[in-house]
Amino acid sequence: MPVPVSQMWTVASYVLRQKLAGRRQYPLVLMLEPLFRCNLACAGCGKIQYPAHILKKDLSPEDCFRAVEECGAPMVSIPGGEPLMHPQIDQIVEGLVARKKYIYLCTNALLLKEKIHLFKPSKYLTFSVHLDGQRAEHDLAVCREGGYDIAVDAVREALGRGFRVTTNTTLFDGADPKSVRAFFDEMMDLGVEGMMLSPGYSYDKAPDQKHFLGRARTRRMFRAILSNRKRRWQFNLSPLFLEFLMGKRTYPCTPWGMPTYNVFGWQKPCYLLQDGYAETFPELLATTDWANYGTESGNPACANCMVHSGYEASAVNATFSSLGGFLATVKATLFTKYEDEEALRMLDEPQAPVHPLIQIAPTAESHSLEQAGV
Ligand code: SF4
Repeated sequence: MPVPVSQMWTVASYVLRQKLAGRRQYPLVLMLEPLFRCNLACAGCGKIQYPAHILKKDLSPEDCFRAVEECGAPMVSIPGGEPLMHPQIDQIVEGLVARKKYIYLCTNALLLKEKIHLFKPSKYLTFSVHLDGQRAEHDLAVCREGGYDIAVDAVREALGRGFRVTTNTTLFDGADPKSVRAFFDEMMDLGVEGMMLSPGYSYDKAPDQKHFLGRARTRRMFRAILSNRKRRWQFNLSPLFLEFLMGKRTYPCTPWGMPTYNVFGWQKPCYLLQDGYAETFPELLATTDWANYGTESGNPACANCMVHSGYEASAVNATFSSLGGFLATVKATLFTKYEDEEALRMLDEPQAPVHPLIQIAPTAESHSLEQAGV
C-alpha cells in the first residue's frame, strides 16, 4: 500500500508554495521530541543518558501544538525517547490530526499493543516502528532479546486494526547487505506500507562510537543493499535520497528541512548536534550559523554524516528545483531497476566482523526513575 495520494499532494503543493514564495530555507518535517525517556537502551542512541531531572521532563500538548504551528511543516515525526511513554501522547496525536499534519509516531513498539486503544486509525497517523533488521540483528542493535518478536507482533496488531504502519531502520557499520535485503522481504510480507532507512551517526552521547560509517563505506553498503532491488520493496523515502545513499548523487545538508524541537527548545542546528537552542523557530533560522554545518563546511562533526534528517529534505528540494530533478524522481520511482553486477558480487563478500555493541549500564538515576514508575 503506497503513501496516500492526499499526503503526496499535501507535501508537493507545500514545497511548490515555498518555491514560489522564494523561500530557500523551509521545514519539511518537524522532529518533535516530547520526552527523552525510553524503555530501551540501544547502543546507537544516547538520549537516555541525560540526567534524571531532564529524563523526567515532558513537553505538554500545548508546547507541541505551538511548535507545530510556529514551524508550519506538513509532516511531524515524533521520535524521543519512546513517545508511547509520554502520559499525554494520545492528546498530542489527536491535536496534530485535528491540525491535518501527517504524523510518523516513531516507536520501538514494546508498548504499542498495550496502548493502541488510545489511538484511532487515520490517514494522518502512521506508526513508524523501529526495526533494525532481521531478528538477531535487531535484538543486538536494541540490546534486548525478544525485541524483534514483540515489535513484529505489534505491527500485526496495528495493521489488523487498520492503522498505517511503516518501519524505520538505522544501519551501522558491519550490517550484512544480504540480511538487510531479506529483512525488506520480511517487512513486505508483513504488510507494512513502506520502509525508512538511514545510516547511523556517531552520536555525541551514544556509547557505540566505533560503528559510524565513513561516507565511502556508507555508499558502498547502500549500493550493495539497494542495487538490483525488488519491485515489491516500498520505501518511505525520496527516491533521490536513496540514490544519494548509493553514491549516485551528492547533496548539501539542509538541516533546517527537518528541525528538532524538544524539552530544551529548538535545537541548533539539527537532530544530531546540540550547538545551543532557540526559543522560537524564526529565531532558530535567524541565529544558527548554517554555513558551519554540512559535509562541505569542513566541520568535523559533519564530515561523515549522510543521515536522513540532514539529507532527505535536500533530495526532496532537488525534486522540485528543476525539471531535471522532477524527471529524475519520476524515472527513479517508475523505471529504474538499478541493475549492477558489481553490487551483486558485493553481496557475497565476507562481512567485516561487527564490533561488540555496548549495553548502556543503568545509572542510579535511571533506577530511581524506574522505581518512581516514570
Ligand atoms: S551534516 Fe549531519 S550532523 Fe551536520 S548539520 Fe547536517 S545532519 Fe547535522
